[in-house]
Amino acid sequence: MSILIHTVSIRTDEKSSNWIEDGYIIINEGVFKKIADGKPSEKELTEAGEVINGRGKWVCPGLVNTHGHAGMSLLRGYSDDLPLDQWLKEKMWPFEGKLDLEATKAARGLAMVEMIRSGTTTFLEMYHLFMHEFAQDITDAGMRATLMRSMIGLCSKEEQKEKLLEAVEFAKTWHKGADSRIQTMLAPHAPYTCPPEFIEMIVEEAIKLDLPIHMHLAETRKEVREHIQQYHHHPLEHLEKLGFLNEARWLFAHGVHLNEEHIDLLAEYKAGISHNPISNLKLGSGVAPIAEMLQKGVEIGIGTDSVASNNTLDMIEEMRMAAFIHKGIAEDPILIPAEVAIKMATKNGAQLLEHDKTGEIKTGYKADFMIIDSHGAHMQPASNRDSHIVYAAKSSDITDVYVDGLPLMRNKELLTLDEEKIKFEANEHYQRVRSYI
Ligand SMILES: [Zn+2]
Repeated sequence: MSILIHTVSIRTDEKSSNWIEDGYIIINEGVFKKIADGKPSEKELTEAGEVINGRGKWVCPGLVNTHGHAGMSLLRGYSDDLPLDQWLKEKMWPFEGKLDLEATKAARGLAMVEMIRSGTTTFLEMYHLFMHEFAQDITDAGMRATLMRSMIGLCSKEEQKEKLLEAVEFAKTWHKGADSRIQTMLAPHAPYTCPPEFIEMIVEEAIKLDLPIHMHLAETRKEVREHIQQYHHHPLEHLEKLGFLNEARWLFAHGVHLNEEHIDLLAEYKAGISHNPISNLKLGSGVAPIAEMLQKGVEIGIGTDSVASNNTLDMIEEMRMAAFIHKGIAEDPILIPAEVAIKMATKNGAQLLEHDKTGEIKTGYKADFMIIDSHGAHMQPASNRDSHIVYAAKSSDITDVYVDGLPLMRNKELLTLDEEKIKFEANEHYQRVRSYI
């Protein structure tokens, strides 16, 4: 069925100004068929299956969250304001150790509700529990995702092999699944949690499967210091010296503690970074040198990380923080202008997660988008739209979210998820899991 949205502002890279002030779009078979200025013809109006008046609204690309652990969503607020080591060992890991299928499913349902409500159409999930079940739930919910079974290698060789087997089997089963809405990657957890021989095995599989690799990198100063003590090199140099950067496509999360030479390595090997500024701030990890990376042509996406360290999955907030923090640190207001922040949160993210023809509103691209209501007082004067999206908008301004041309939220009502049931179950399972600890 085709959809025509008229009398609407459209953020499209087809215009040098990035915006059509008053135009219309036609979506057919899940794809943007036409993006145009002005009014649709009578013929276009009669031929459309559904006609939507978009007065006062803005059609924008859906947001892409390039790093997260939706399976941890019951841990929101469970523990805050502790040193990372203590937080992980005394709080996060004991709780995670008790997560069963029902609790993980409830956590992920909650994450999907929150993501859709805040305009996210595509996200990355790096986790070790019940990935098949999540892939099925994403299929039913209609979202787009890049999924991977995360692996920590601090275990016996047999366990490492089992984990890798499971990760490879998952990746093969779901790659291009759900009408190509699901992509997969392989995911060694981090250089400090995976011995070199284990990473090598993963890299070999990634090459065989032609899949990218996602990994946490240089998140904290302590982690880098201890890595240097153990392996005599910074984690990124370590991966380079082992020859791994050359052999596969890499998307790293965080990249907080990197110097100029490390950024050169990222650029040389075309490795991408998921910038997760709020999580890095909350855990006291630091601020990634994103402006320097952009200057050297490193591709950057924006991610929230999990709600245990954020504590929301709100990409509007994350985008704003990504724009603000580097201006403040460098005392330079020119850094990360609104347009760049939007690009990182949409087009760049989609490329890093390898979802072709998404992340932009463009003829022939998949119709993943959000609709923003510009009526709020905080959105007036309703012009300077890129500026408003990054510096003024709230996720509650988002009224509609579509993936592949199908509505997941319409007039703020979720169509593919039972929000009340999900919220109730998340609370029930939180109390239940908590009672086991
Ligand atoms: Zn993470």
